[in-house]
Amino acid sequence: MRALVYTGPDQLTVDDVPIPEPTDGEALVRVRYVGICGTDLHLWHGALAAVQPPVIVGHEVIGEVAEIAPPVDADPDGAAARFGPGDRVAIEPLLSCGRCWACREGHGHVCRQLRVMGVHANGGAAEYMRVPIARLHAIPSELSWEVAACTEPTAVAVHMTRRAEVQLGDVVLVLGGGPIGFLVAQAARAAGVNGRVLVSEVSNRPRLELCEAAGLEVIDAQAADPVETILGLTAAPDLARGRRGRRGAPPTPVTVAQTVRAARVRGTILIGGIAPAHRRRPTWRLSSSRSCGWSARGSTRRATLQLPWRCLRAARSMRRHWSPGSCRSGRP
Ligand SMILES: [Zn+2]
Ligand SMILES: [Zn+2]
Repeated sequence: MRALVYTGPDQLTVDDVPIPEPTDGEALVRVRYVGICGTDLHLWHGALAAVQPPVIVGHEVIGEVAEIAPPVDADPDGAAARFGPGDRVAIEPLLSCGRCWACREGHGHVCRQLRVMGVHANGGAAEYMRVPIARLHAIPSELSWEVAACTEPTAVAVHMTRRAEVQLGDVVLVLGGGPIGFLVAQAARAAGVNGRVLVSEVSNRPRLELCEAAGLEVIDAQAADPVETILGLTAAPDLARGRRGRRGAPPTPVTVAQTVRAARVRGTILIGGIAPAHRRRPTWRLSSSRSCGWSARGSTRRATLQLPWRCLRAARSMRRHWSPGSCRSGRP
């Protein structure tokens, strides 16, 4: 089969590789869609630690079950019985140890041994992918393939919104109107926020227009200081989320400083993104740590995977955002 393989910094190749053979507790999935996100760009450019090439990329994956490997002794919760050939599935790309305290307490997404399919283990930018059955999630029949392809990033947004404990009546500010920022804003609304949801974006017209079309309040951060604008519009948000300081960039100190200035007293600040190695100071480690309650790392765990379906049903306009050729990230 053909697969997109990361072979080293700035090196991606399309290779012919053997179709993987599923073993106990695993399924073989025929891939239909695989997303490309900022994490993939960091991976491609060699900025992610603990990645050992060669590895097949792709962690935002949906497809259909091609085969369930017998026997299924490694499937104690009976997930295998729920799936058969042809079933449409989204893949939760996390591989946790299942034995540590975090895993036993239901926090496997922050397991110290965590590996991510498409990053540390082979992913779905290929014709087929081998996946633990427990990591399969049935796609609701009313969702198209194209919309369902957004499941994993939507789960990220849902998890971030939950970690921020957004409440009814909160004012939510999202700094960065890219795909994740847009989805965080949608998730905040789906979570029942009946206050204002504002998105600040740096003069990226398509993003600004999409946010406006989705009924979000939009601030062009290039035209005015977003913090001053927000403070003028509101009594200061309850939740501020920083993602990208500029297009294609990870969260910057400037963006983080903006969240501190913008949030109200006792407000909640949640930072999502991947910091490059030279910025991995303790605060960055804290924001993505395994011990801190604010972590939004590895967010496609089972408990978060129902709300994304609701978000996707409600936000089908997002399809424009992911249509081929619509990526306008500053970096290739
Ligand atoms: Zn991603
Ligand atoms: Zn573990």
